[in-house]
Amino acid sequence: MIYNFSAGPAMLPASVLKKAQKELLDWQGLGISVMEISHRDPIYIRMAEEAEQDLRDLLAIPDNYSVLFMHGGGRAHFSAVPQNIAAADATVDYLNSGVWSDIAINEAKKYVATVNEVARVAETPQGKAIPPVNEWKLSKNAAYLHYCPNETVDGIALHEIPNVNVPIVADMSSVILAEPIDVSKFGVIYAGAQKNIGPSGLSVAIIRNDLLETQQHRVCTVMNYKVQAEQGSMYNTPNTFAWYLAAEVFKWLKAEGGVEAMADLNQAKARLLYECVDNSSFYRNTIAPQNRSRMNIPFQLADCQLDNEFLAKAKAEGLLALKGHRFVGGMRASLYNAMPLAGAQALVDFMARFEKAHK
Ligand code: PMP
Repeated sequence: MIYNFSAGPAMLPASVLKKAQKELLDWQGLGISVMEISHRDPIYIRMAEEAEQDLRDLLAIPDNYSVLFMHGGGRAHFSAVPQNIAAADATVDYLNSGVWSDIAINEAKKYVATVNEVARVAETPQGKAIPPVNEWKLSKNAAYLHYCPNETVDGIALHEIPNVNVPIVADMSSVILAEPIDVSKFGVIYAGAQKNIGPSGLSVAIIRNDLLETQQHRVCTVMNYKVQAEQGSMYNTPNTFAWYLAAEVFKWLKAEGGVEAMADLNQAKARLLYECVDNSSFYRNTIAPQNRSRMNIPFQLADCQLDNEFLAKAKAEGLLALKGHRFVGGMRASLYNAMPLAGAQALVDFMARFEKAHK
């Protein structure tokens, strides 16, 4: 059995991949693949609309929100958000909770006059932590507040939605569909697809309709939220195969019990791994408990000389892609929706054996 702990592109449900394989040469009895038909064909449009509806059902997206299937992955929204949602002379607020929000901040600086960092991760006696919202230095007149609820590289998460009175923009690339969310609390939610949705390159954006009016008229049309909303995300040719695969993942999610079931599963997997790390002096995680991610769990071996042996032995047992991000080092296990509980169990069993062998 192979378990793939990659942070992204990440593990997809095996049943979805098998269905895609079966349908590759003959989709819906057409005798050709889904990649070879026009995105304007009524059969394709039906599939695309069903995908949107399934996503709306899964996340209980209110009717006053548009759902877009866009290009450019998560990063394309780092520039699309400030251009679409803020005027060039605006002030925007950003929480800096790790690598991805830091990159988003630097991108926003190209498009708006003032990018205010409201807070950044700090070392505390309990580990790295996001300061409480009441300590954030919010601007008086921000066009929006941007944050990343789950920092994929750092393994840092903000588990509550900040209570502010400006539109909230969230980069949910590595946490979308992993748990229920109250979409009505957000102005914009965006996510690259390659963790919980489907293939990379595709992104999903959920935008409250009153925010659709583009603020900076030079915004690249492919990333113009209003144009894409008006044209059903088909201003230009979408990534038709990725959209199809996302549609299959949404169907799989519904059959598995939706985001509520995923939240239970994801909690259980994360608990297994954190317990394994916390109950040993051989492994450690440096994030304060309240800000620990359930999706991406970085951990270090007390003796980093053993890192390569750990990775090689894990790989030999079918536990793949556990090497930590180069900025953080050590290990990282990503436990997205498609990872079964048995995968997390196999990892902690291996970790216990590896520890015993080296004590
Ligand atoms: N935001 C987050 C939180 C991510 O994890 C990633 C990718 N790992 C990105 C943005 C960038 O996504 P992409 O490579 O699809 O542009």
